[in-house]
Amino acid sequence: NPLLVSVRSGGPTSMPGMMDTVLNLGLNDESVKGLEKLASRRFALDSYRRLLSMFGDVVLGVKAETFEAVLGEERRKFAERVSLAGPSPGEDWARVVPDSRLDEAALEAVIEGYLAAIAGAEREFPRSPEEQLKAAIAAVFSSWDNPRAQLYRRLHGVSRKHGTAVNIQAMVFGNLGRTSATGVAFTRDPSTGEKRFFGEWLENAQGEDVVAGVRTPLPLTLAAGGTESLESRHPVAYQQLFLVQERLERHFRDMQDLEFTIEEGRLYLLQTRRGKRSARAAVKIAIEFAREGLLSQREAILSVPPERLRELMFPTLKNPREKEPLAKGIGASPGAVSGALVFSSEEAEKRKAAGEAVILMRLETSPEDLLGMESSVGIITARGGATSHAAVVARGMGCPCVVGCGALVPSGSGFVVQAPTGPVELVAGKVVTIEGTTGALYEGKLETGKTSLDEDAITLLAWADRQSRMQVRANADTPSAAAQALEFGAQGIGLCRTEHMFFEKERLAHVREMILARDERTREIALGKLLPHQKSDFVSLFRTMGGFVVTIRLLDPPLHEFLPHDEGAALQMAERLHVDVASVRARVTELSEQNPMLGHRGVRLAVSFPEIAKMQVRAILSAACAVKAEGVEVHPEIMIPLVLSGRELDMMRALVDDVARDVFAESGTAVAFKFGTMIELPRAALRAADLAGKAEFFSFGTNDLTQTTLGLSRDDAGRFLPGYVERGILAHDPFKTLDIVGVGELVKIAAERGRSVRPDLKLGLCGEHGGDPASIEYCESISLDYVSCSPFRIPIARLAVAQAAIRKERARLASDSVRGPEAV
Ligand code: PEP
Ligand code: MG
Repeated sequence: NPLLVSVRSGGPTSMPGMMDTVLNLGLNDESVKGLEKLASRRFALDSYRRLLSMFGDVVLGVKAETFEAVLGEERRKFAERVSLAGPSPGEDWARVVPDSRLDEAALEAVIEGYLAAIAGAEREFPRSPEEQLKAAIAAVFSSWDNPRAQLYRRLHGVSRKHGTAVNIQAMVFGNLGRTSATGVAFTRDPSTGEKRFFGEWLENAQGEDVVAGVRTPLPLTLAAGGTESLESRHPVAYQQLFLVQERLERHFRDMQDLEFTIEEGRLYLLQTRRGKRSARAAVKIAIEFAREGLLSQREAILSVPPERLRELMFPTLKNPREKEPLAKGIGASPGAVSGALVFSSEEAEKRKAAGEAVILMRLETSPEDLLGMESSVGIITARGGATSHAAVVARGMGCPCVVGCGALVPSGSGFVVQAPTGPVELVAGKVVTIEGTTGALYEGKLETGKTSLDEDAITLLAWADRQSRMQVRANADTPSAAAQALEFGAQGIGLCRTEHMFFEKERLAHVREMILARDERTREIALGKLLPHQKSDFVSLFRTMGGFVVTIRLLDPPLHEFLPHDEGAALQMAERLHVDVASVRARVTELSEQNPMLGHRGVRLAVSFPEIAKMQVRAILSAACAVKAEGVEVHPEIMIPLVLSGRELDMMRALVDDVARDVFAESGTAVAFKFGTMIELPRAALRAADLAGKAEFFSFGTNDLTQTTLGLSRDDAGRFLPGYVERGILAHDPFKTLDIVGVGELVKIAAERGRSVRPDLKLGLCGEHGGDPASIEYCESISLDYVSCSPFRIPIARLAVAQAAIRKERARLASDSVRGPEAV
């Protein structure tokens, strides 16, 4: 009566399929006979060959394909022996002779083949169960560091320090015949979050059979699967499973992903863990758990990682009925995307590196495909169900995914799809569209529609807003971006980069005319032509943002960015402006800089050419007066970029006040506005007390502050920065997540020094970090007033701002209670 065990990993964070497992451990040529007596010879052989291949692969390092090849060959021989026809095109031998058909003789041959393959390995297959166990434990521990697991951790931000446990469990067998089964279940639908018990199972199967996607699994419930369901075939075990899953969910207060086995009618749970879910499901589950009283509202807010909301803004098809789909599979991870087809992970990586959007099409995926999946905008597989590897991993990545699209048949190096209108060939590079909610596959690129948040996300964000202290504003330069930001819940514009308004065709000509001008008068004429355009831009912006603050930054980039870069464009420009091309060339050379990022830009332009700043201030304030006259509330803020000294602010303040006086006199009305500065240079941060005497607000431009503090160029650092992160010199890319101990320290110093002079100084952050949850957490810790980010990151920032406030409050309460009442 041999005791067989399974040896599996148990990390604190689930990393589906990334680490190794060995099943049926304890079998050898002797004990297999005991197992045979307990059950049947076929079963004993089936278990033994599974052990040999898993042990061989995981512990002895024999490639899984070697075992696949042996198995494939025996399937073929078996088919020959019982006169079965070979596979039809696109099918493989596993379809013709599934595992369950292999008889004793075939399994004996498989075992012999496996043992021969293992004999070639460096180490022997240990016959002693103790030896097997020790070796398997060591192998599962070291699988924590296999390349798949490393990659997964990197992609999902899981720390290597966690390490893994190894679990040793007595085996139960789902492959003991038709009274036995194995399956995977989720306590809620992992794709939609709906409260319905959901999962898949297979009769007479073991281990990876369900998720590997080789056999198409059956649904659990009667409602989903009729007579094929676990509920109808094994009603008693199903009832038990149903009650247990409810209890586990209540116990862990989270959606669970269970693995179970039924051995001769009796239910066993192998594992339960936090279920991976789509972003949509994460939000729905958070809300429903709060409504069911399983979580408080604050816990519900904390349960959704803010970054995941990005997936909710995935586009849907604009007009789903525009075209008949070629085929339909199972929608496994939502979002509609188009891309060029690739059939291997290597190809996906290569094409992505070349800047192409690709859709990975495979029979099924395995953990080896992780990098390829990560490189694809969408994934579609021919096989597998909603709990297959592809589905689970894609959901975790937030990548649109369709699985089990049975109409796809491999053909040559690609696939043929059996479409309703006949077969269609799918070759590499062909553009298709997939819809990860409905599971549809379309030929060509379909138009995707505007994204909007669903009702659940709106509810969760409304709950979040009630917990927040910081505001979330948008970086938006156009009325349409501003409208989008408002829809996503922005509470104002924190950064309007006015140079973006200059790039439109007609304006660019006026801008160039201004740059070519050799004297103030000619420059003013050109600026006079620009003024009405700028004013009308601001009028629309103020109208759109009625009632909210709009922070407008004066011109920042060096002037030569607006000039032509090649000879053809220089000629065109000369012609258009009626000047000779030599003078255009001369001006281009004159203005070009070795390092424009540290050059004649920001407030330095305004110091050299005050007329430009005057025009912009006039445009802002006259637009504000005009919109105010329409009865719309306006709150303009004028912001000066790249300031390094209080003197610069004095000059700008005088300029702004002069223009304001004129504009208000002309329009017969005045508008209250604020005057402030960006903090983008270490010197500005250190001189914050001086600057705060002159500015009513600071906005931390952490893109430039990161460049200038670390001495890294944001345009070039990509070449070596990843190496710095890999070697642990920097904890992460400092342009994405604030370098807290360096740049963050300067922000903190500036905030403190600024507030010491002007206690009501408004403090915001408008670099890319304003939409990054970890950076937002830091902003809360130093009590900034707002963060500002691009419109599509607003929902993420709203949730992150709320979470940061909740966590800060909790930490405060905890430290109060530790210190005790006296200390408080
Ligand atoms: C910044 O430097 O952080 C900033 C917001 O300005 P820009 O990115 O336009 O330089
Ligand atoms: Mg900047």
